[in-house]
Amino acid sequence: MAIIASNFKTNHTRKSTKEFICNVNEYLKKNEISTEVIVFPTSTSLDNFDTIPSFFIGAQNAYATQRGSFTGEIGTEQLDEFAIKTILIGHSERRHILGETQEQVAQKFNFYKELGYKIIYCIGEPLEVKEEGLNSTLEYIYEQFIGIDTDYENLILAYEPVWAIGTGVTATNEDIVNIHNAIKEKISKPLLYGGSVKVNNVREICSLNNVDGALIGTASWNQEDFIKIIENTK
Ligand code: PGA
Repeated sequence: MAIIASNFKTNHTRKSTKEFICNVNEYLKKNEISTEVIVFPTSTSLDNFDTIPSFFIGAQNAYATQRGSFTGEIGTEQLDEFAIKTILIGHSERRHILGETQEQVAQKFNFYKELGYKIIYCIGEPLEVKEEGLNSTLEYIYEQFIGIDTDYENLILAYEPVWAIGTGVTATNEDIVNIHNAIKEKISKPLLYGGSVKVNNVREICSLNNVDGALIGTASWNQEDFIKIIENTK
């Protein structure tokens, strides 16, 4: 069974998120889809919209706290309002744009692990590391597991090479398989690929060895395309 996740990033309003969630929900209810679907809307659209979705809605980010003085962040008190129990941790945009360190990422991981959240944990190398070759790439990726309990039962991993995210440049099948095989040898958890996954390449990518699904940004923001992506991987 594939796992397909949509990361809205800073896209969609509450209105369009509601429409998206309701339509995907309708589609999943009408069709026999075994794919596990997860959607990460913006934090302003974390809501159940009066439907009980037949898929998971998760937070793109939250602080490692119940509540407190952390300007601009949200904690579990806010997530609990909408029964959110799924979170994305370690996304490259948080690491590289927002400057989250491995220590902060691990602290967040451990906080949400203790609460039993389903955690989608992202790892991936920037272009300059990829250019140094496979060994350097793996070394870089393994460092992103420092402080992370890779035996955690509710853990899903997502390999997202930074140079492939939002660039339209997808990693080659060979790149994906090499990295996925190496990670899987060490950590036996579902492992998604992310980085310019699209309607027309998702089937092939998800059929590769040790690829258990995809984490998708850009190509998933249009609900018709997202439904096609699910359709292509069922
Ligand atoms: P992309 O983003 O599909 O736009 O490359 C993937 C991600 O950041 O999860």
